[in-house]
Amino acid sequence: MRSPEVILTLREVTRRFGGLVAVNKLSMDVKEASIHGLIGPNGAGKSTAFDLISGLTTVSTGEICFRGEAITHMAPEARVASGVCRTFQTPKLFDEMTVLDVVATGRHLHNSVGLWGSMFSIGRKRREEAKTVSAAREFLEIVGLLAKEDAPVADLSYGDRRLVEIARALATEPSLLLLDEVTSGLNPVETATVGDLLRNQVRQGLTIVLVEHDMKFVMGLCERITVMNYGSVIADGSPDQIATDPNVIAAYLGS
Ligand code: ADP
Ligand code: MG
Repeated sequence: MRSPEVILTLREVTRRFGGLVAVNKLSMDVKEASIHGLIGPNGAGKSTAFDLISGLTTVSTGEICFRGEAITHMAPEARVASGVCRTFQTPKLFDEMTVLDVVATGRHLHNSVGLWGSMFSIGRKRREEAKTVSAAREFLEIVGLLAKEDAPVADLSYGDRRLVEIARALATEPSLLLLDEVTSGLNPVETATVGDLLRNQVRQGLTIVLVEHDMKFVMGLCERITVMNYGSVIADGSPDQIATDPNVIAAYLGS
């Protein structure tokens, strides 16, 4: 039996691109309301693993279970609707939109009326819009960007754009958030802010899988860490176990 506190399980998940095995029999269990690190040198297969969990690419073989249900072949939108949200290594934000509008796009799942209903009822549409805006503001407050809600995304610093991305992801109210190198390019103060905000969300029940290059950040934040190299898991354990694992040390020195 699956233990009840495991929210995400990957069982021998493999993804081939032609002759290249980008992800090779990746197995991992992610505990609910925890931060799980996924680390490894460049090209290890971390982003591909996120693509597989979020459904942006299909598995060659293996199984992915979320809350005890197989989601291996579920469409990406259905995975978002069931509570899986991810950010991208390279932020995908529309520069001309305002900060508030970007975060509001994360709320669309929660609009009960939808496009069809809103065409027939202007009043309902207005009420939905007001709800969307107030919810989006709530998430901007969480990342500390409420004061910049009307700014075009293009005017923001790199760090603030990252925070907008996090706010948009949180606005989908996921139960599992996959963060791909979310602190890359941030200064130490911004990185610490992100760490605090993630810890806070986890305290409220969110589960996070974190792909990161900043080892200090990963070690300080994660309860458990899975290390990949050339598509395969080379270690899995607590930060202390990972930091002293000879395979991990060799993989990083060799890269
Ligand atoms: P990481 O995020 O750990 O740096 P990636 O998951 O991006 O690694 O890539 C793992 C390997 O898979 C790399 O060798 C990369 O070139 C390859 N790869 C990733 N996506 C594709 C794709 N769509 N087509 C072909 N090869 C890919
Ligand atoms: Mg990557």
